[in-house]
Amino acid sequence: MKKPDIDIGACTLCMGCVDSCPEVFRYNDAGYIEIVELPAYPEKEVDEAIMFCPEDCIAWSDE
Ligand code: SF4
Repeated sequence: MKKPDIDIGACTLCMGCVDSCPEVFRYNDAGYIEIVELPAYPEKEVDEAIMFCPEDCIAWSDE
């Protein structure tokens, strides 16, 4: 399944992805952004988050 993936080492916690697509991206208790487990991911919203991430640290991965 196609799933978004975050390079947390590069993420600056700008919260852009959480603001634009909270159903997929979540700020967790450990202090970093994680991907919410979903049966399928909304392609358009995730593509927008990828496009707007200032660090280019979101990408699609195949699981
Ligand atoms: S948009 Fe990119 S840099 Fe900003 S919180 Fe999300 S993954 Fe991190």
